[in-house]
Amino acid sequence: MASYRPVWAEVNLNALRHNIRRIKKLTNSEIMPIVKADAYGHGAVQIVRALREEGIQRFGVAFLEEALELRGHFSDSIIMVIGPTLPEYSEILVKEDIIPEIFQVEQAIALSEAAVKLKKNAKIHIKIDTGMGRIGFRETAFEDITQISLLPNIDVEGIYTHLATADSPDLSYAQSQLDQLNKLHDRLCASGIDISIRHAANSPAVMQVSASHYEICRPGLIIYGLNPLEELAQDIDLRPVLSLKARISHLKTIDPGESVGYGRSFFAERPTKVATLPLGYADGLRRTMSNGGEVLIKGQRVLIIGKVCMDQTMVDVSDIENVAVGDEVTILGKDGDEVITAKELADRAGTISYEILCGITKRVPRIYLDN
Ligand SMILES: *Cc1c(COP(=O)(O)O)cnc(C)c1O
Repeated sequence: MASYRPVWAEVNLNALRHNIRRIKKLTNSEIMPIVKADAYGHGAVQIVRALREEGIQRFGVAFLEEALELRGHFSDSIIMVIGPTLPEYSEILVKEDIIPEIFQVEQAIALSEAAVKLKKNAKIHIKIDTGMGRIGFRETAFEDITQISLLPNIDVEGIYTHLATADSPDLSYAQSQLDQLNKLHDRLCASGIDISIRHAANSPAVMQVSASHYEICRPGLIIYGLNPLEELAQDIDLRPVLSLKARISHLKTIDPGESVGYGRSFFAERPTKVATLPLGYADGLRRTMSNGGEVLIKGQRVLIIGKVCMDQTMVDVSDIENVAVGDEVTILGKDGDEVITAKELADRAGTISYEILCGITKRVPRIYLDN
């Protein structure tokens, strides 16, 4: 889509390369970056292209549409869906060599039938629910996997689980989840079902649960340069990849007693220089930023005044010298010595940095910096 509006997200591929190199220092296991939700809002195709140049061969997405988008661009990458795929789409999985997550016997039977029909082998990874309470085999895992392993044209390449509390200072629950996976894997091996790949580590587990690294790690957030550990327990020198920017569209000075925005929630107490920004909550600038959120202009913090609108937002620039229409505004990212992090925006919105990144919507063009 052509872009005529001065609002954009800068995606710094050098920062991405830096992050993947840092992550490789944390583990000897293969890295399968998680690029679901359009690579956490960064643009999956561009992110995968850059990571392939760093030697990454395997990628994880949340569902089949996302996998097919990547397959269309990268015929030789290993692509895995780490979420449910309905049995009726088994033939697509087999044809496109996409590895599904299997957590029901019926899925495996449908996949086996598709593979037989297409005269191919289908690789699968088995998902075990060891305590996340989301999806995965539970009590009957051993029997179910045994049955699946006997299906024609099915290659059980991997077995994995997902940790519920890997970002916690208390890792005992995470360890109990790993114990369950280990026990099941041992039992399968002993009965002659040799599953060569185990995985469990999301970003916080890559950082602080080395027992979870196994053959593959599945980091998402740290690839994009954000630290998932609340109190930044460990500084592993990550660089945020994405910044959100815009240019001032209008400037005016209002008198004391005049109001700004819907519902007149802000009244000027002094002559106030107001800048209007051409983005709003439909772009991912949360409405909870109304009257109190901040953005950066000329390296200084300025306050959002009035309610954030769908497409526009007003800020008080009374204290900024020489401000002009067209000046750059940083909503997320760095300007001079000041920085607004996804964590800061998340705290204000009562959420986590993941949701801030995913919340930057499609209509914001992504600009890729690479040098
Ligand atoms: C999203 C997801 C990840 C990545 O999580 P991060 O915390 O972003 O590293 C890994 N594994 C599974 C199953 C996921 O759903």
